[in-house]
Amino acid sequence: MTSSHTIGDYKINVVLDTPAPPRDVSAIFESVPVEAWDQYRSFALDSNGMWITAYRGHLIRNISGEGPIILVDTGMGDVVSDVTGEVGQLRENLSALGVQPDDIDIVVTTHCHGDHIGWNVMYDDDTPRLTFPNATHWIASRDWEFYSKPENANPAFDKSVKPLEELGALKLVDGVEQLAPGIATLPMNGHTPGHQCVLVESGGKTGVLTGDLFHNVAQITEQTWCPVFDWNTSMSTQSRRSLLTLASTQDWIVFSGHLETGQSIGNVVLDGGKASWNPL
Ligand SMILES: [Zn+2]
Repeated sequence: MTSSHTIGDYKINVVLDTPAPPRDVSAIFESVPVEAWDQYRSFALDSNGMWITAYRGHLIRNISGEGPIILVDTGMGDVVSDVTGEVGQLRENLSALGVQPDDIDIVVTTHCHGDHIGWNVMYDDDTPRLTFPNATHWIASRDWEFYSKPENANPAFDKSVKPLEELGALKLVDGVEQLAPGIATLPMNGHTPGHQCVLVESGGKTGVLTGDLFHNVAQITEQTWCPVFDWNTSMSTQSRRSLLTLASTQDWIVFSGHLETGQSIGNVVLDGGKASWNPL
């Protein structure tokens, strides 16, 4: 059970925002027959057959203290959770790591769904302000363009991403763009039009922050299983396959957006051509 890992010069911490309500996988993975879960049930679902997940971000810092402080995704935000009865604790959990909102230089959004952008802005009455006042928010231009169209209206985008433009904190990202030496965005589209991972290469090691490329640990093996949240399932499957193949063959450390808390950092092992999750 771990909540941080070091990749060369960079320390990467999981930053919990809030646990998610248990989810019924037959509603989330509509096209997967219930019995197909049986071989994964003992580790992929809880004793009631529910999927347990959380909303979280990741903090990336150079252990020298130099360079930008990077936050990848900002959780569910200022919304009272059914599980805890409280709003998300991302800011408190950053503070416990010695990081205050002013310290964050870059916020990378893996994609513009509500559970990844929640703390981008806060509201005083109807007026938005930046939660991380010194940060530039890196948003994939494909997500920006898609969710800006009226036919793709997404209230979470309107609340938490759209105001970044007027607040002067928006940076649109196209493809691979470097955030710091060895750290870059890596487009892995399909979950949303502009879904992106973050690749960290340092000291001969590679880590990847996968956002919502997969949600449940069974998808490491069953790479064609797609949740109803995937915008384009053939594209998301292609992205999932190519990233997990790279991770398994290149011995990457994977930092997952939604695997169970405490088991969300790991590597992908191949046994007889079959991939599975090995939590660190
Ligand atoms: Zn998500």
